[in-house]
Amino acid sequence: MYPRVVIDLDKFKHNVSKILELSHQNKQTMMMVTKVFCADQRLVDVLNELDIDYIADSRIFNFKNMVTSHKKVLLRLPQLCEVEDVVKYTDISLNSELKTINLLNDEAIKQETTHSVILMIDLGDLREGIFDKDELLDTVKEIESLQNIHLEGIGTNLTCYGGVIPTPKTLNKLVEFRAVIETLIGRELNIVSGGNSSNILLLEQNKIPRGINNVRMGESIVLGRETAYGDLIENVYDDVFTLEASIIELKTKPSAPIGELGMNAFGEKVTFEDTGDMLRAILAIGKQDVSHENLIPIDNVSILGSSSDHLLLDVSNESFKVGDVLQFKLTYGSVLSLMTSKYVEKFYV
Ligand SMILES: *Cc1c(COP(=O)(O)O)cnc(C)c1O
Repeated sequence: MYPRVVIDLDKFKHNVSKILELSHQNKQTMMMVTKVFCADQRLVDVLNELDIDYIADSRIFNFKNMVTSHKKVLLRLPQLCEVEDVVKYTDISLNSELKTINLLNDEAIKQETTHSVILMIDLGDLREGIFDKDELLDTVKEIESLQNIHLEGIGTNLTCYGGVIPTPKTLNKLVEFRAVIETLIGRELNIVSGGNSSNILLLEQNKIPRGINNVRMGESIVLGRETAYGDLIENVYDDVFTLEASIIELKTKPSAPIGELGMNAFGEKVTFEDTGDMLRAILAIGKQDVSHENLIPIDNVSILGSSSDHLLLDVSNESFKVGDVLQFKLTYGSVLSLMTSKYVEKFYV
């Protein structure tokens, strides 16, 4: 059935292996981030055959049914309402709030287990992480006093909100924090996690500062793209995931609507350029599944727009028939929403 996301398991395996090799060459352990594909078990099964070091996801929901023997890392800071599940379903969580870590400790005592945390440090990208150095050291001391919490390491997240690029200079700040914290607690930290797919270039150039030993990779593996500059990575595929959608109407019509114009279905006032008649195709997929800006047609067509359930294309340059299936390459945003949509079939090859 269409629409469907076609998932190439061999290409996925190839990509994971390549990025894993690159990480290990740089003495970095790798967390494979599964959130963009909703931790789809068929893809997790591929990871289960590989020597990745951790599986990471931002949603506790995705860990509940996951079958894997890899260590599980929760990327998004836990909500207070999910600490029980965090302790139950994950081995490690990223944290920045002492209040939450205290509750994780209470819960770990209750479940008679130990939970590990990676303390996040904000180096300026201004998403999660402790920014103030005094607060950081106080938090470390507090964590050390907690019976059932293990401070597994520290981490930082860049190029996510603020677009800050991971330069050696920026990452060296994390290494400096490592030294201060290790002196304070009198032991080495297991994990010093330097970032995500925006670290690819540094890895390729052997420029990850010594003292950083972990990367968390999602987009680079799924889309074959590093995320500091958006460049394609050599020797990895950019089409592990593609979309197929079918034509339900194909007609020659004007390029501009006729009559007095108000708002569209989404309350927006739209303008059109009149370029004469065109061959227009409607595909059975819409905004409820994916935002059309995030689709990259493979055929010589241009995307005109979409409504909830319809995608409109100018296909004047092609000779399609009703029922034909068109393919699209995807971006991070479109893989994310298509994998999340229950209306889109997942088809594995
Ligand atoms: C999503 C996420 C990642 C993965 O980022 P990519 O750019 O997809 O590699 C890494 N770390 C954290 C904390 C995340 O939330």
